Amino acid sequence: MFETSFITLFPEAFPGPLGVSILERARKEGIWDWDIIQLRDFGIGKHRNVDETPAGGGAGMVLRPDVAAAAIDSLPRQERPLIYLSPRGKPFDQEMARTFAEGPGLILFCGRFEGLDERVIEGRDMIEVSMGDFVLAGGEVAAMALTEAVVRLLPGVAGNEDSLSEESFETGLLEHPQYTLPREWEGRGTPDVLLSGDHKRIAEWRLNSAKALTKQRRPDLYAAYSETHDIQAPETGDEHY
Ligand code: SAH
Repeated sequence: MFETSFITLFPEAFPGPLGVSILERARKEGIWDWDIIQLRDFGIGKHRNVDETPAGGGAGMVLRPDVAAAAIDSLPRQERPLIYLSPRGKPFDQEMARTFAEGPGLILFCGRFEGLDERVIEGRDMIEVSMGDFVLAGGEVAAMALTEAVVRLLPGVAGNEDSLSEESFETGLLEHPQYTLPREWEGRGTPDVLLSGDHKRIAEWRLNSAKALTKQRRPDLYAAYSETHDIQAPETGDEHY
C-alpha cells in the first residue's frame, strides 16, 4: 500500500480531487491511502501557535521549526521521501513522478505564510519540490497535484496501462492532438488518416504531429528529444499548429 501523509493547517482542503474517479477507486481497492496531520495540534501554548515573525524583520510570518519537526516526527517515516512543497524547490516533472511512484509512499509538508524555517528543512532532510515558477498561497494544492500525478502511475490505478506510456512527457514529446465524434464539428473535420484504419500511417501521423507540436511549443523538450532520437523533419501534422 502506497501511504501518503499530508501535514497541513487546512485539513478541510483534503481529499479534494484526490477523492474522486480513478484515485478514489484505487484507494478503495487498497492500492494507496492518505492521512492528514494537523500542524496546529503540535502548536505552542494555549493558542497552539505555529508561526512567528521572521528573524531580521520584514513582512509575514514563518512556520516554526520545532512545531514542524514535532508534526513530522509524529509520523512513521517508513523510508518515505519527506517533501516540502516550495517555489524554491526542484521543478516537479513526470520523471520525478515516476521515481516517487516506485517508492513506499510520500510525506508532504504544505507550507503557509512566508514558508518554513530553514533549519527544519535542513534538519529533517526535506526535499524541496516546486510545482512551477509561480507563488501559491499554500502548499495544499501543490501537494495534491504532486500526489495525483504519482498515484495515477501506480500499477492498477489507470485503467489502461498503454494510455500512460503514450502520454505527454513519457515519450519525451507532448501528445499528438486527439479527435473523437462527431466526424465534423462546426465545419472542422477529422484528419482523414485517423479514419483510414491504417495503423502504421496513423502511428506515423501521431508521431509527426507530436514532434511538430513539441518543436513549436516547447523547444526545450524538443532539443532534448533530438539528442536521443534520430529526427526526421516532421512531414505531416505541421498544418495544425
Ligand atoms: N515566501 C515564499 C512563498 C511562500 S507561499 C517564497 O517566496 O518562496 C506559501 C507556501 O505555499 C509555501 O510555503 C509553499 O508550501 C507553497 N507554495 C507556494 N508556491 C508554490 C509552488 N510554486 N510550488 C510548491 N509550493 C508552493
